[in-house]
Amino acid sequence: MKVLFVAPEVPPHAKVGGLADVVGALSKALVSLGHECKIFCPLYGDIKPGKDWHSHPSPLPIVAGDHVSFGRLWECTTPDGDVDLTFLEFNDYFGRCGIYGPADNGDSFGDNGHRFAFFCRAALDLCHHLEWYPQIIHCHDWTTGLIPAMLKLNESKGPLSGTSTVLTLHNLEHQGVFPQGIADFAGLAGRVPMESGQLNFLGTGIRFATNLTTVSPTYSREIQGTSGGCGMEKILKRRSVDLCGILNGIDTQVWNPASDSALPGNFSMDDLAGKALCREELLKEMGLPSRKGIPLFGVVSRLYQQKGLDLLAEALPSLLTRKKTLQVVVLGSGDPSQEKAFQDLERKFPEQVATATRFDESLARRIYAGSDFFLMPSRFEPCGLSQLYAMRYGTIPIVRRTGGLADTVHAWDGKTNGNGILFGPSSVRALLRAMETAVMLFDDPSAMQIMQQNGMSEDFSWDKPALQYQSIYVEAQESRLNQVNP
Ligand code: ADP
Repeated sequence: MKVLFVAPEVPPHAKVGGLADVVGALSKALVSLGHECKIFCPLYGDIKPGKDWHSHPSPLPIVAGDHVSFGRLWECTTPDGDVDLTFLEFNDYFGRCGIYGPADNGDSFGDNGHRFAFFCRAALDLCHHLEWYPQIIHCHDWTTGLIPAMLKLNESKGPLSGTSTVLTLHNLEHQGVFPQGIADFAGLAGRVPMESGQLNFLGTGIRFATNLTTVSPTYSREIQGTSGGCGMEKILKRRSVDLCGILNGIDTQVWNPASDSALPGNFSMDDLAGKALCREELLKEMGLPSRKGIPLFGVVSRLYQQKGLDLLAEALPSLLTRKKTLQVVVLGSGDPSQEKAFQDLERKFPEQVATATRFDESLARRIYAGSDFFLMPSRFEPCGLSQLYAMRYGTIPIVRRTGGLADTVHAWDGKTNGNGILFGPSSVRALLRAMETAVMLFDDPSAMQIMQQNGMSEDFSWDKPALQYQSIYVEAQESRLNQVNP
């Protein structure tokens, strides 16, 4: 099948979170199943075209608002050469640095409605321009949410009339809600439902996409209820037969402790010696002293309410002042008040807490590899990739039982089963308890080793999920054809 991935993030060029990893790794897995995939993404100001990129000879005409604009197309492949990648250069909207906003602190650009409505229209115009007509357009989150409606309402005749859409919901919290003017600009005014006079990109996508997926079975159930649906629960329930929760995988070649060049020592399940070296070097890199017998906890995360790390900042002082204590390294950026909380903890406990408030993929890898435990106290977590990377790198996850964390982390039974530590309530007390359990477990090297090996031996590859996506594509094609020829 020909599949067009339309996405606001693609690794290694544009990444804020797990969506980028999924786009890169799933498209690669689909290519290895024999499909033809192309990824379409905006060329943001911080992406510099590489030497081996080709500028398409003719500009792409994009019809948005009341006139035609022209964008430049850059063609290249993903770093390992598996998937074709096309970037849209259009400087008025994408020439500045940043994907959703000027800095990674949750701020948005004021013209995001125009930027991403334009991008959605450009995705369809791209197919006509290249005369490359996919069977499936696979959309990712709100920024691509208008494509299913544009396709259904504007392309019912012609070469895209047989194309189906699959919309993957990576996170319902961000929906892209904009005033009526954006519906006019997108050519959808009066043709799609508005919510309190506003255009909701994600809601429109959910209504119009042929099929819907989300990134774990538990999140798929959670979003059909009031607490997890972020206002979309009713429409999701109505569409539940078309909604499928498919657990994300990880790219096991890119994330491999045996070959990862960012690590000071490589290791595998059969030989964990390199992991001890990673631990020592991580402590040095983060300016923490090496202390025998106390565990090292790692965090790699966006610092927002969703991730529950404010609970960690609150829990830490009581743990750090105990006799049997611990050390923590935090890599994260986002909410300034959370960044400050961890910086303050570092100042107060300089031998136990180290904080880096930036985006740093190389350091992230060394934290996954060098920590004993990895913390994810998320309030909600659609899938979560970080706990999968941690397990792959022999680090035991401590997670709240929610979304994809509940689907991938299994509680240690004290004997031979389990790969992590889970807790239920979203509270400081529950997190403290889980961390105390970890501190005790650290004194039992054989239990630690069994849990590490259980985590490392799990199959988190894309092999199975890619087959599930393939079945969804087949289903989407069948229902599209039934619509065209009822
Ligand atoms: P989300 O998509 O909600 O942020 P995931 O766990 O699915 O959460 O994916 C997070 C991804 O972003 C992982 O690849 C993680 O390593 C990466 N990441 C998050 N924060 C940072 C950071 N400060 N530096 C480097 N990588 C980060």
